[in-house]
Amino acid sequence: MLGTLYIVATPIGNLADITQRAIQTLKDVDIIAAEDTRHTHKLLQHYGINTKTTSYHEHNEQQRSEELLARLREGNDVAIVSDAGTPGINDPAFRLVRLALDNNIPVVPVPGPSAFLAALVASGLPTDEFFFAGFLPSRSGARRTRLNELRSIASTLIFYEAPHRLRDALEDALEVLGPRQAVVARELTKIHEEFRRGKLNELAEYYSNEQNVRGEIVLIIDRSRDEDKSSAAVTNTELQRLVARLEDEGLDHRAALKKAARELGMSRDEAYRRLTVARRQ
Ligand code: SAM
Repeated sequence: MLGTLYIVATPIGNLADITQRAIQTLKDVDIIAAEDTRHTHKLLQHYGINTKTTSYHEHNEQQRSEELLARLREGNDVAIVSDAGTPGINDPAFRLVRLALDNNIPVVPVPGPSAFLAALVASGLPTDEFFFAGFLPSRSGARRTRLNELRSIASTLIFYEAPHRLRDALEDALEVLGPRQAVVARELTKIHEEFRRGKLNELAEYYSNEQNVRGEIVLIIDRSRDEDKSSAAVTNTELQRLVARLEDEGLDHRAALKKAARELGMSRDEAYRRLTVARRQ
C-alpha cells in the first residue's frame, strides 16, 4: 500500500486563513515536509497539530525528495507545506510532486491561499486572463529583457516583488511597457494590508519618494490598452519644450528626458525617439 502526497496550502499572513481540510490533513499524515520547520511549528502549535516535521527547502530538495519518496513507498502519508501560501507556487514542491508521480504515488492538492490570487481578485484589473510571471530578475538589464518578452501578452501580468526592488521594477516596467494601469498589493491579509492603484508612471513617482518600503508585495500590471496610447496626443514640440525647460532648471539631458517622459506618460525609449524626430523637423 503506497502513501499519499498532500500539497497543503497555509495562510499568507492571517492565521485564520486555513481550511478545515488542511488542518485535518496536517493532523492525519505521518510526516509534514516544511520549508522552514520553526516557522511551520507556530502554525501547528496554533491549531494543536502534533505531527512530526522534516525540512524541505531549495537547498536539500533533491536529497529530501528521495527520502520522502522512500517514506511514501513504505505507505506513509506525507504533507508538504511552505512558509506561506501554496507549495509549488514560487516555493519548493515541484521536484517531489514529479518524483511521486513518476513512482505512481497519488498526489492530492489541499487548496487554499496564494498571494497572487488574493492580489488579483481585489486589484480591479481584469481577471479573465492573467499571466503569473513569478519574480522578475533582480538586475535591471535582465529585468527589462524579461519585461520585453512579456510586453505583447494580452493578459493581466502578475509578479512577486521584494520591497527593496519595487522602485526599480516600477521604473523598468514603465520604461518597457509604458504607462499601463497597475496595482501594488502589499501585506495581504495582514494588519497593514494595502492596495495602491494607479498608472505605472504614478506608482513609479510615488515609490521614488518612499524611503522605506516594507513587507511582502504582489505587483499587477494591466494588459496593453489603446487608451494608454494617449501619450500619442502629446506633440513632439511639447516634449521638446518640456525637456528644454527641465534642462534650464538644472537637470542634465538624460535626467530631463527621463522626467519629461514620466510626466507625459510615455516610456523613455518613446521620448528619445520623438525627440530625435523633433530635432530633424
Ligand atoms: N507560495 C507562496 C504563494 O502561494 O503565494 C509564494 C511564495 S514566494 C517565495 C513569496 C512571495 O510571495 C513574497 O516575496 C511576495 O511577493 C508574495 N507574498 C507572500 N505573502 C504575501 C502577502 N501576505 N502579501 C503580499 N505578497 C505576498
